[in-house]
Amino acid sequence: TAMYEAKHQGRGRAVAFQPAMHERIRKVVDMEADLRRALRDDDLFVVYQPIVDLASGHVKGVEALARWQHPQRGLVPPVEFIPVAEEAGLIEAVGEFVLRRACRDLARWQRDLGPHAPASVSVNLSRAQLHNQALVEVVRQTLADHHLPPSALRLEVTESLAMQTDAMLGLLQQLRDLGVSLSLDDFGTGYSSLASLDLLPVNAVKIDRSFVIKMVDNRYQAALVRSTVQVAEALQLQVIAEGVETPAQADALLAAGCTLAQGYLFSRPLPEAALVDWLLNQPTDLFAATGQVMPVR
Ligand code: C2E
Ligand code: MG
Ligand code: MG
Ligand code: MG
Repeated sequence: TAMYEAKHQGRGRAVAFQPAMHERIRKVVDMEADLRRALRDDDLFVVYQPIVDLASGHVKGVEALARWQHPQRGLVPPVEFIPVAEEAGLIEAVGEFVLRRACRDLARWQRDLGPHAPASVSVNLSRAQLHNQALVEVVRQTLADHHLPPSALRLEVTESLAMQTDAMLGLLQQLRDLGVSLSLDDFGTGYSSLASLDLLPVNAVKIDRSFVIKMVDNRYQAALVRSTVQVAEALQLQVIAEGVETPAQADALLAAGCTLAQGYLFSRPLPEAALVDWLLNQPTDLFAATGQVMPVR
């Protein structure tokens, strides 16, 4: 075969890899064209995952997560299409779509759901979005369009060394100056370090799911989470745990001092209508709302 011969010419790798690479490039090019179409045809949508107070069970907010219903491939997860959007120069369009949708939905919940409405919505920002100063104006305008106070929006960013450049720190600070909150996402992976909690103008830190998994039967990992909580508290940052799936994980987090969490244990990310049903079935913080003792459910 051609491959066999190529190997014996010492070029086996190049020849053998070529068709696979072609296939990969073709897939990305296809996906790019499809993504442009999806943005035009409204095939993107947003699901929401509740963020709850571990001790009381009260909903403190929701995180918006992008989804793509591809006409042939079915549901494409964001880890697949966000990188394509970044490479194709479509990330601003995708990001603005999610931001607008999230703000529109939050404004509606706050109008219609009374005490069942979440106080805030969290929107993920891609690293590429932090390279464009225009983001600040887009955020300001979107909040204004939906008559939302800036405090209703939390933007999630993952850490990278690039975030420590003057340009990016400046942009993050401008977002903070608008009054929106910033969360450091996926803490415990990549470049994350406790020092960055002080360096970056963030209001909250999200403990990555990998940490949450390991801390249950590993005292060292549990101690790391406890230290993170302590440093965060000293810096007046909130701590939110991600990907909580079991009661044992929730207990370990509470023991480590972490009071806010999201994960399948509470709810999977839900389409808008299903989230509304879920919210309406949750106990509300009546004590805060009315000053009366909370009824036991
Ligand atoms: P993330 O921001 O860290 O979001 C949390 C991810 O964990 C979500 O995956 C969520 O569905 C998943 N998750 C939540 N609870 C559990 C759990 O209990 N168990 C497990 N196994 N997973 C859980 P998803 O929706 O696939 O998103 C993956 C990543 O894609 C996000 O991670 C975020 O970095 C990115 N992403 C999602 N939506 C957007 C978006 O609109 N814009 C940008 N730039 N990135 C987005
Ligand atoms: Mg996130
Ligand atoms: Mg995360
Ligand atoms: Mg994550």
